[in-house]
Amino acid sequence: MSQFDVTVIGSGPGGYVAALRCAQLGFKTALIEKYSTLGGTCLNVGCIPSKALLDSSEHFENAKHNFANHGIIINEPQADLARMVARKNEVVDQTTKGINFLMDKNKVTVFEGLGSFESATQVKVTKNDGSSEILETKYAIVATGSKPSTLPFITIDKERIITSTEALNLKEIPKHLVVIGGGVIGLELGSVYLRLGSQVTVVEYMDKIIPTMDGALSKELTKVLKKQGMKFMLSTGVQSVERNGDSVKITAKDKKGEEVSVEGDYVLVSVGRKPFTEGLGLEKAGVELDERGRVKVNDHLQTNVANIYAIGDVVKGAMLAHKAEEEGVFVAETLAGQKPHINYNLIPGVVYTWPEVAGVGKTEEQLKEEGAAYKVGSFPMRALGRSRASGDIDGLIKILADEKTDEVLGVHMIGARAADLIAEAVTAMEFRASAEDISRMSHAHPTYAEAIKEAALDATGKRAIHM
Ligand code: FAD
Ligand code: NAD
Repeated sequence: MSQFDVTVIGSGPGGYVAALRCAQLGFKTALIEKYSTLGGTCLNVGCIPSKALLDSSEHFENAKHNFANHGIIINEPQADLARMVARKNEVVDQTTKGINFLMDKNKVTVFEGLGSFESATQVKVTKNDGSSEILETKYAIVATGSKPSTLPFITIDKERIITSTEALNLKEIPKHLVVIGGGVIGLELGSVYLRLGSQVTVVEYMDKIIPTMDGALSKELTKVLKKQGMKFMLSTGVQSVERNGDSVKITAKDKKGEEVSVEGDYVLVSVGRKPFTEGLGLEKAGVELDERGRVKVNDHLQTNVANIYAIGDVVKGAMLAHKAEEEGVFVAETLAGQKPHINYNLIPGVVYTWPEVAGVGKTEEQLKEEGAAYKVGSFPMRALGRSRASGDIDGLIKILADEKTDEVLGVHMIGARAADLIAEAVTAMEFRASAEDISRMSHAHPTYAEAIKEAALDATGKRAIHM
């Protein structure tokens, strides 16, 4: 029987990072993954492939609509979806192979097969051919991630009624893609096909898209996506989804309670994801789940069984790759006797539409609900020289700061490269900067980041220079 200090089950950004950090800290580490490629949802069917298709479709969109404005005249561009998907697969392949390289380099032993607990200290690996072996382990880290949720009356047939996994591998550009759920996946993958020429209709249960982000971002994104041609059916609860040959009909109730329907050739169901613990044998180890099927953990990410920890999408909190990674490092360092720390308030959220959307800290809605005294500074991207130079004039940056102390409480942005700009806000907030601190830092000109400084100037006495 092989013996390990730490056995990690699941090789997504939570699991593979945990395994690497454990190995760096001197633990004899095993990583078990049921699929033949490492990297989990994020690298195989999530973050990386979706961004590859978002980038390809954005190039197409620019060639089609924006090049001429920049004085570049080309023949009418054609979208070659097969090539885009093939390129996306190449990117995924290179990225997942990179994880294998890192495992070898750090001497993590990788097992391909389903990991399941036999007891708190024994994990069985069952390979595809049915053979199995038992690993004896001092500690275990559950990092088995999540899978797409659906609605009770929807059957995902993976052909016309699909989840994000199939949407990343379509063979044709849909004529009309109906998206159920106006959250992150729906808007990102909806954007891909909208740019490639599909009609896209988003059916959202709430009265706004990206409902958990700051309301100003939702409002601006709705406006911009509508301008791009995306259609929205808000406050609309889907009641049934019926396939008839190559067409799928969605029937729903609008906010007045009246029946509405929409028909498309593909329906993407993107109503959230649920924790994945099937086949893991948690009951044999005595590990408890919470009311939502997540592995129950304390503040140290430790389960009710002292030597078993859990991280990432399978536990509470935002289902984000970088959150899973932080937790992987946190557990490895905890096991090594260190005192690591994660500030969950400072995990940024990003939506990779164009313009990009990003936020960190408290939203204005949260501050209102808490009854906090706060002030707001904001700045429109269109007032920046950099935005006019590139033509990316949509969006804004909004800073929320404490009314009395001026400490930055939240930063919310929509605009070109917001996904990268949000790092400045995270850094500032980690060091508990005030809005005035940001307003007095030199920001290179001309950059999109100048809008952060201007919003900070606006928050501190309405001093924005270029507005
Ligand atoms: P996962 O990545 O889900 O990995 C879990 C792994 O465990 C899987 O490989 C699974 O096969 C394996 N496993 C499960 N059970 C067993 C078992 N019993 N034995 C062995 N192996 C097992 N997040 C972002 O931060 N940014 C993004 O841009 C982003 N884009 C996304 C786009 C899409 C389309 C999707 C679906 C998700 C996206 N996410 C994004 C979310 C991100 O993918 C997840 O938050 C992240 O992958 C969670 O990491 P994890 O390690 O917890 O789990
Ligand atoms: P989500 O939670 O972002 O959005 C789901 C949306 O579906 C919500 O707006 C919700 O109101 C709506 N909804 C729920 N029930 C509905 C119903 N019956 N009818 C109509 N709408 C309904 O979930 P998602 O988009 O499926 O993404 C899943 C997870 O993956 C998210 O937690 C997200 O964090 C992660 N993810 C992150 C990124 C990123 O970081 N850029 C990208 C993709 C996915």
